Amino acid sequence: MKAELLIVGGTIVDPSTGRSGAGDVLVSQGRIVGVVEPGTAVEAERTLDAAGCYVSPGFIDIHTHIYEGVQEMGVAPDRVGIDQGVTTVVDAGSSGFANYEDFVKRSIEPSKSRVLAWLNISAPGLAEGRSELADLAKLDPKATLEVIERHRDSIIGIKARMSGSVVKTSGIRPLEIAKDTAREAGLPVMVHVGNAPPALGDVLDLLEAGDVVTHAFHGKAGGILDADGSLIPQAAAALERGVLFDVGHGSSSFSFDTMIKAKELGIHPYSISTDLYLVNLVEGPVYSQAITMTKLLALGYTLEEVIAWATSAPAKVLGLETEIGTLKEGSEADITIFRIEEEPVLLKDAEGKTIAYNQQLIPQYTIRAGEIYSCST
Ligand SMILES: [Zn+2]
Repeated sequence: MKAELLIVGGTIVDPSTGRSGAGDVLVSQGRIVGVVEPGTAVEAERTLDAAGCYVSPGFIDIHTHIYEGVQEMGVAPDRVGIDQGVTTVVDAGSSGFANYEDFVKRSIEPSKSRVLAWLNISAPGLAEGRSELADLAKLDPKATLEVIERHRDSIIGIKARMSGSVVKTSGIRPLEIAKDTAREAGLPVMVHVGNAPPALGDVLDLLEAGDVVTHAFHGKAGGILDADGSLIPQAAAALERGVLFDVGHGSSSFSFDTMIKAKELGIHPYSISTDLYLVNLVEGPVYSQAITMTKLLALGYTLEEVIAWATSAPAKVLGLETEIGTLKEGSEADITIFRIEEEPVLLKDAEGKTIAYNQQLIPQYTIRAGEIYSCST
């Protein structure tokens, strides 16, 4: 067999195919050629030694803020992308139809990471403060649809942030507009949930299969669990319909208590995203998708589950499951090589609660379309 790049000696973990265990990965022309048994004779131009490491599909983070220089808290995509073992980073509503062309120039074109976006249903996105849905005059479905049509290659859905400080007196109306627009475009919505109003139940009732609730496991009042710790009926109904619950860690939206109670009820995240922006990247408690994944390991989820929720599951959210989030032959050669370091670590949620754990998931190399990048740790 022949390949441009051969990744040898690693342990494969690819939930999309169910393959796990020792294996070598062959890459040519930016694509996966195959995964073979260790020791298979391969003529390779370049070999990357992955001994002691895991080799998985490239991590995908569906909630980040990467409109650097315009959104106050935005960071450069590669800082939370290839630098951290993440091959695909999705901006969650930092721009809207009024500035999406600028987002393409600043954030997509210069980046080595694959950059996609949920387009904010409000014209300026988050470029003019954080109450972008308070004035309904800023929502224009026609203009939004025009921008989507021009950028089908990078816009994968519409973002609506449905919490009190964002919508003010607009109530549930911005989400109705976002849903109508998304339906017309044939795309999902990602809804940010937080403090009411609107009430979470009213938000969930508007969502359909494939729509994403980010910050689903926050620790604020009015979340998916009621005061007795039971799942609210609208959340149960939403899950039944195929609405997807995403982590969206952020500075104030990830609670170990909520996650533990939800886990006991059999409610697990569909995808692990970070809501990374400047402050929570530099000062925590988020830091990276890898650390967020480590927190899920600490809660007792298996490596297979955690990798699935950062690879094959988010690829499905994006409608790209045949291209990324997999090591299947013919797919894009987006690969993360990481190790599990056995060392004590104190993990902190967004409520100030800590959990002591004895392992850390540490990315070593990011391979994006066949190019190798070392991760900064
Ligand atoms: Zn966010």
